[in-house]
Amino acid sequence: MAKRDYYEVLGVERGASEAELKKAYRRLAMKHHPDRNPDDKASEDLFKDANEAYEVLSDASKRAAYDQYGHAGVDPSMGGAGGAGFGGANFSDIFGDVFSDFFGGAGGRGGQRGGAQRGSDLRYTLELDLEEAVRGTTVNIRVPTLVNCKVCEGSGAKKGTSPVTCTTCGGIGQVRMQQGFFSVQQTCPRCHGSGKMITDPCGSCHGHGRVEEHKTLSVKVPPGVDTGDRIRLSGEGEAGAMGGPAGDLYVVVNVREHAIFQRDGKHLYCEVPISFADAALGGELEVPTLDGRVKLKIPEGTQTGKLFRLRGKGVAPVRGGGAGDLMCRVAVETPVSLDRRQRELLEEFRRTLQGDTRHSPKASGWFEGVKRFFGDV
Ligand SMILES: [Zn+2]
Ligand SMILES: [Zn+2]
Repeated sequence: MAKRDYYEVLGVERGASEAELKKAYRRLAMKHHPDRNPDDKASEDLFKDANEAYEVLSDASKRAAYDQYGHAGVDPSMGGAGGAGFGGANFSDIFGDVFSDFFGGAGGRGGQRGGAQRGSDLRYTLELDLEEAVRGTTVNIRVPTLVNCKVCEGSGAKKGTSPVTCTTCGGIGQVRMQQGFFSVQQTCPRCHGSGKMITDPCGSCHGHGRVEEHKTLSVKVPPGVDTGDRIRLSGEGEAGAMGGPAGDLYVVVNVREHAIFQRDGKHLYCEVPISFADAALGGELEVPTLDGRVKLKIPEGTQTGKLFRLRGKGVAPVRGGGAGDLMCRVAVETPVSLDRRQRELLEEFRRTLQGDTRHSPKASGWFEGVKRFFGDV
């Protein structure tokens, strides 16, 4: 589906000023915010579109790239995350791998010269059992995070005082330095671009405006997730600096190894031991599935390693589509601890095989190969 034009999404002219963009975005974000429109997919989409459009258009360099090249000019993997701190949105999404290079370097993204900075995105690894991953679950996680200091409400300044205009840059956040013929603009070393300085720092956060805290979040894991899948909790990352929006929290799924099943995408594999007699005569086995045991008919003459497919007994993928299959690999088990009677029966059986290759389809071919290898045919 073709992406809508970002200006169209926000309902502004192409030449719109920063203030006009912000105003339009705020209006849309308020209107379509998921907290106000619970379970309304259309609103959620409009909210996300507005976020994405604003994220790009509010950034001068991204906007220039977009104006020149359209959607191809802005990296889609960076879209859709801006302004998420709005009222603590908490809706989740499953993403593909487009976000893989996303962690860590995102701090300050969307930060504007001399002002608010978006908080960093955080990553949390969530260990799940296979059953939880297949069926979906809700888990509470405890995450460390930087939150706005309650004492100074994030300003960093002692209660009753407020930050004053930086005397080095005069509040612009940038300073000009003369280097030979060139005049270079740099972030103000004193206020680090905020344009404000704190003369009387808050005692609780030592002027940072943010303090580390733990918070407990409830994460809804949809059925079918696999190792590497990510769930985004919008606005649950680190708090922004100077009143900027919070980052996002990415919950990354890691599915633990299972005692019986190995998973490969939507298919499950398991090994089922069968007796030598069942393999030879045929029989019925009980095999495990995630929904309990089922019966599996084994034809006579089954060799070890043979795969039996149980359709639809695998995993229904989180991104849709039918459930995969369960593949049972049979392993013929050599009987041990034979008693006298069993031993006699087997010895008698062995005598019946002697010199008759019809009963050993693998061995006869194998011995032929060995003969050819040594050239003594
Ligand atoms: Zn300054
Ligand atoms: Zn404080």
